[in-house]
Amino acid sequence: MKRFLLILTVILVAAGCCSCGGGETKNTRVFYEYFDTVTEITAFGETKEEFDRVTDEIENILKEYHRLADIYNEYYGTNNLCTVNKKAGKEPVKVNEKLLDLIEYGIQAYSVTNGQTNIALGAVTKLWHQARQKGNELPKEESLKEAAKHCNIEDIVIDRQNSTLFLKDEKMSLDLGAVAKGYACEMAAKFLEDEGKTEYALNLGGNLRVTGKKSGGEFWTAGIQNPDLLSDKAYVNIVYLKQPSLVTSGSYMRYFTVDGKTYHHIIDPDTLYPKNDFKSVSVLCGNSALADVLSTALFNMSLEEGKVLIKSLENVYVLWVDKDGKVHYSEGFEEYIKE
Ligand code: ADP
Ligand code: MG
Repeated sequence: MKRFLLILTVILVAAGCCSCGGGETKNTRVFYEYFDTVTEITAFGETKEEFDRVTDEIENILKEYHRLADIYNEYYGTNNLCTVNKKAGKEPVKVNEKLLDLIEYGIQAYSVTNGQTNIALGAVTKLWHQARQKGNELPKEESLKEAAKHCNIEDIVIDRQNSTLFLKDEKMSLDLGAVAKGYACEMAAKFLEDEGKTEYALNLGGNLRVTGKKSGGEFWTAGIQNPDLLSDKAYVNIVYLKQPSLVTSGSYMRYFTVDGKTYHHIIDPDTLYPKNDFKSVSVLCGNSALADVLSTALFNMSLEEGKVLIKSLENVYVLWVDKDGKVHYSEGFEEYIKE
């Protein structure tokens, strides 16, 4: 049930292929193995053989990033983030350059979001993850405070020459949960664009990325799910994907309840607790990795702070659903609303 819901934060609603007279072939393929969510790939106007070839390639990309960013498992023959975390404070670990690029992107994300998306928050997110697994008690306040002393982004050392990654603080660990999915999605989209594929849509559990327009020249459209799952209104809005990436983070997806209060999975680095101002935040922009990073960061900011951040960025548009279900838009979002 949880996994089923995870894919639904944003939904492609152009799937009926209205722009091409209904005559064009539609292919879909679903993976369940990557980034703890459901991945759905949709394409129009492609032969089955070609679709299979392309989606095999996409699967390879997703699998590779999934493995590199995995903090729970190691894989034979490669060092990944799990290896790097284990060797924290001990020794640099030789890693694939793609992991260095991804970590570098995570470090940039920290500065773009003024520290609100922090890949070095692993010591803290680990405590929340364990609590969520148990499901009936919160992490201890003093443990959170102690862990927070080991979340310094500057303690990540990237050595390009030797292709190594090192964490200076032995108690620190990296968590790419807020970044890797969007980043991998963007890499898969880049592959499609390099191949000249313009009628594909990738949906990695709420990270939606399309390539080009549909064959009739119309924009793809997507529905932003209403966080109130019991409402008759399934979508908050349906939007045109004039920007190719739409990412939603929702507090109603991964959470647990203690003493009647719910705690979701995005942690405010300032308070070390989840912040409950919003039910969901959706970001529309040109790049799925950026959209992923921002959707997480905006959860930790007030609406006003978020609007200031968005204004400082080019071509980024945001829809917030606040805790009372009220919808807020960043400047210019109207241009993207279909209904
Ligand atoms: P989702 O994975 O549901 O799309 P996000 O992209 O917002 O959600 O990522 C949330 C995940 O990122 C958490 O499960 C956790 O592993 C990690 N995380 C939580 N809070 C932060 C934060 N402030 N900065 C960086 N990573 C975080
Ligand atoms: Mg994110």
